[in-house]
Formats: sequence, structure tokens, C-alpha cells
Amino acid sequence: LSPVPSDIEISRSQSPKAIELLAREVGLLPDEIEAHGKTKAKVRLSLLDRLKEQPDGKYVLVAGITPTPLGEGKSTVTVGLAQALTAHLKLNSFACLRQPSQGPTFGVKGGAAGGGYAQVIPMEEFNLHLTGDIHAITAANNLVAAAIDARVLHEATQSDKVCARFERLCSSRRLPPSPLQKLGIDKTEPGALTPEEIRSFVRLDIDPSGITWQRVVDTNDRFLRKITIGQASTEKGQARQAQFDIAVASEVMAILALTDGLRDMKERFSRMVVGSSRTGRPVTAQDLGVSGALAILMKDAIKPTLMQTLEGTPVFVHAGPFANIAHGNSSVLADKLALKLVGEEGFVVTEAGFGADIGMEKFFNIKCRTSGLRPNVVVLVATVRALKMHGGGPKNPLEAFFSRCSPWQNLQLVADGCSNLRKQIEIAQLFGVPVVVAVNVFRTDTEAEIDLVCRIARDSGASDAVACYHWSRGGRGCVELARAVRKAAQQPNHFRFLYDLQMPIVEKIRTIAQKVYGADDVEVSQEAQAKIDNYNEQGFGNLPICMAKTHLSLSHLPDWKGVPTGFLLPIRDVRASIGAGFIYPLVGTMSTMPGLPTRPCFYDMDLDPDTEQIAGLF
Ligand code: ADP
Repeated sequence: LSPVPSDIEISRSQSPKAIELLAREVGLLPDEIEAHGKTKAKVRLSLLDRLKEQPDGKYVLVAGITPTPLGEGKSTVTVGLAQALTAHLKLNSFACLRQPSQGPTFGVKGGAAGGGYAQVIPMEEFNLHLTGDIHAITAANNLVAAAIDARVLHEATQSDKVCARFERLCSSRRLPPSPLQKLGIDKTEPGALTPEEIRSFVRLDIDPSGITWQRVVDTNDRFLRKITIGQASTEKGQARQAQFDIAVASEVMAILALTDGLRDMKERFSRMVVGSSRTGRPVTAQDLGVSGALAILMKDAIKPTLMQTLEGTPVFVHAGPFANIAHGNSSVLADKLALKLVGEEGFVVTEAGFGADIGMEKFFNIKCRTSGLRPNVVVLVATVRALKMHGGGPKNPLEAFFSRCSPWQNLQLVADGCSNLRKQIEIAQLFGVPVVVAVNVFRTDTEAEIDLVCRIARDSGASDAVACYHWSRGGRGCVELARAVRKAAQQPNHFRFLYDLQMPIVEKIRTIAQKVYGADDVEVSQEAQAKIDNYNEQGFGNLPICMAKTHLSLSHLPDWKGVPTGFLLPIRDVRASIGAGFIYPLVGTMSTMPGLPTRPCFYDMDLDPDTEQIAGLF
């Protein structure tokens, strides 16, 4: 239709096929799915075993240029491309997307189901609670947090009593084995433990100032960035400063996205380091005895959720780490299942968050390293509106709308802004994978502007560059991109990682800063250096790096558009996500809890109590 109706109107106008039918169409057996209502189903991981001999399909990563705060259409392209491959080129395909956080859904950006005629339906379900995975993550994360502070309190007030009880148990009768084994104690004979051993098992001696685990909530609640906990008199003076992160930045979320099965997820939970003891020893979730409970809380969340696009193409929605403050990719499990289901000739289109400098770099260096999967093609999404911003136009699209330079043709701004596109193509080429540029066309773009972007993209080394009209036309508006991707997937692939894991932590950070962001060097704060030294001593120096950096610039300063040069990248702090398997530097003022804008999206949302219809969800 023209004009294109709102996303929610389009979503509501289409009746999705029954989830059982979709499951059958993609080759799932009836007992491999667990339906959640009529349009969503969890898929059991036993499928991987059944299809283990099946060759994988082609693996396509959708990344982008440095975006405006509204997003440049990567989810929309991911969905549109899958629709075009399936419905128009008659190839099996799957789209793999992240579950959106409620932070942006109610904040500034909105949902992440795609948009226009390229979206996942029903979009309300996709954008809201889905099958409850983020709630499970929040519950698991906060159980660890509660376990840490309760342990500190109990050790401060009751550990002598507990030691005495332990000693009595040891000398009188057999200790119950299972809880002890969970704590890594295999001696259960009477008297087998010395008083010192008992003391060391009872007392973790956690240093409250060394606790690195934070509580999480899936809301942009900036007032939780720094809080004091434990102020009630019942906590007996154990008050300390702490903070909340947004739930999607939790290590539990990162583990969900990187794990390859229940056994591995459990092991990763046990390895999670939550802080240090007073002697500098890392304290883990296993030490707290909580890892089994975490596995219970997450046993359903580990199964990817099957949904469909407006055109009935299958979609996996699974995990949702942000790309600026986490590793920014949907789950390894969803990608692996989809690659088996589409078969050798089929295509799986998966999305990495924000610009190629952020989500794609982490896709390669973290996700591919973990999964062993190698993509055949990178699709780099660009928009004329973002390129104009990089060329010196207004930094905010709303501002652009009201100014004179953006909605009307301005070839000079576009040409200047293509510096960012060129740089992002170069970044993708560092990994040796063919790049196809997808220009996501907006109503206000002119043909001359689109042609200019495509020409510059090809001159900069892209295998191809095409205009995409999926938002206004659905899959048929994206057929040219689908053909270009199919062709690029036949090209030789010289995949390589950017850095070697054996390099020192600071060297790995420097390599990303210089080769990807274009920084002259890094500037590591004293606090960050002390943490790095500590992680090296604790034996965590050989992990990949997950930078927490603004997505609005290649540099650490969100207002610095185009291709910033001549800067030092400040590393303010460093954390370690040992269960997920990465070191996590915080760049500049990057916060792990976003805030709400002055006019959040929720202002426009409402629910009709008679029809239960949602309004204003874009
Ligand atoms: P990203 O995944 O890059 O963050 P999305 O695909 O979520 O971006 O798109 C961001 C928003 O922009 C969505 O609301 C979407 O409907 C809208 N959008 C995307 N492409 C177009 C287009 N070509 N014309 C108009 N709106 C678009």
C-alpha cells in the first residue's frame, strides 16, 4: 500500500500460519516443537543430533554502517532478504534475529521485528515478552546477585556456627554427597576433611569491594546506575555501593547466545566469576553453589523460538545481547539449527547489532571463534539519511526532517558521508569475507543519491551494491539483493580472525582500536590496568575481547561522525565474563544501563480494554 501503513497495522493485517504448519514445512517433527500459543514455538535441541550428518547451508551476516539513533534497517533487511530468497528465488532460508530488550522498545529506538512489509509477525509478541527468555535471564542473574550478598552477610555473622556444624557432620556420619559435590568437595567419609578445609569451604571470604557481578533489570532506568544496597538494619552494616545493568548486558544473556547445549551452558554458569576473595582468588558461581539452580531457570530459554515473517518465511528469535555493551549477536544455537534445516543449498541470514565496527567485529572474533561457523557473505546496510549525517548533515534524523538539507537531494553530503561506508567495507574485508552493500531506500531518497552510494560502494571493494525496497514492497523489493548475495556466496572466502588469542590483553584491545576504529592508540586508565593485571594473574589473559563502546561513532565520542582520526581510545574500566568467555573493556563514558529520552516511545502506546488491541507500538 502507499503510503505504507504503520508496522503494527501491517502486522495485524496478515494472519500468520499455524506454528505447527510452519514447523512441518521447515522439516521439524511434531515432538521437536513446544508450542507457545498459535504463532510461536520453542524448538528442542535434540534436532541438532537428528540432523548432525546434514551439511550446513550458506551463512550470511547482516551488518551496517555507523547508524543514526533510529537504526538504519538491518533487521528489516535481514527479514526482507530471507523473504526474497524463499518466496522469489525459491531457496530454503531462515532469518535469525535477537529478541528485543524492553529498554529500546519503550525508549527511543522502538522494537526490532523489522518494519514495513519486512517484519516478523505478530510483531507485538516479538517485541514484548515473547516466550519469557529475558525474564528467565533476569531471574537467573539476580539469583546470583542475591547469593553473593547473602553469602557475605552469613560469613560475617554466622560462619563460625556453620563451621562447627560442618565439623560435627564430618565426625559423626557421612556428609550428604550431592550438595558437596556441587561445591567441588568429593571427600564425604567421616573425618575426611580437616578443620582448615572445612573453613575454606564454608568461607569464600568474598571481598565486598571486589564484587563484579551486578543486578539487572530490562528497563532503561538510569537512576539504578549507582545505588546503595543492604541499608536495612537486618543486613547488619553490610551496605555497599552497587549498580544495575540492563538485563541484555548480563553474562547470563551472553552465555545463552554463545552456548552449544545444556551441558556447555551449565559448565559456563559454573565458571562465571562474580568477584574476588580477600586473597585475590576468583570467586565463581560454582563456589556459591548456585550454578545448578541457574541451569534450571534457563532450561527452556536455551531453546530458540520459531516464528515467521509477513510472507511466511521461518525465523528463529533467540537471545538479545546489545552490540554496544555486550557482544551483539543472536544465538549460536539458532544459527546452527537453521543451517541444518535449510540444507546445503539454503541460506541462513543472521544479524549483528549496530555498525560493522561493533556487532560484526564481535560476530567474527567472539561468536565465530566459539561456534566454529564461518559466514559466506557480509551484507552491509547503508541509508542515505545516515550517510548525509556522516557527511556533515544533522546528527539526529528528526532534526534532519525539519532542516532543509536532508530530505531533499544533496549529493555532496552523501558523497562526503560515504567515508563511513568505505571504512565499514574495509573493516569487513579485514576478515576476508565478500561484502555486498544493501542501500535501504527511504521515500525521501533520490535515484541519483542511491546510484552514487552504489557506485562508491563498488569502487571501495564491495562485491556488489544494490538498492533495496523491502520496507515498502516486501520480499519482491529485495530480489536484487538476494541475487547478489547468492552470487557472492559462490566467491572464494579467505576468512581470518583479527587477532590471536595469545596476544596480551592490551595488545588485543589496541588491535581493535587501531585496525577497526581507526584510533592512534589506546589510553588505559590505572583502574583498568590494575584489573587487566589481575585477570592475567588469574589466568584469564587468553580470552577474546568484547568492547563496550558507543555505536553512534567509530570513536568513543557519539557526536564524532564520518571517520574520526587522530584520537586515543580511552579504556575506563575492564570487566571479565569468564563463563561467556571474554574480557569486557568499557570505553570512554559508555554505560551498561541506558536512560530514557525526554520523549520516550511509551508516550504513544496504549491498550484498548475492549478489543485488547495495542496501539502505538510503531
Ligand atoms: P536496525 O536493525 O538497523 O536497528 P531496523 O530494521 O530495526 O534497524 O529499522 C529501524 C526503524 O526504521 C524501524 O522502525 C523500521 O520500520 C524503520 N525503517 C527501516 N527501513 C525503512 C525504510 N526503508 N523506510 C522507512 N522506515 C524504515
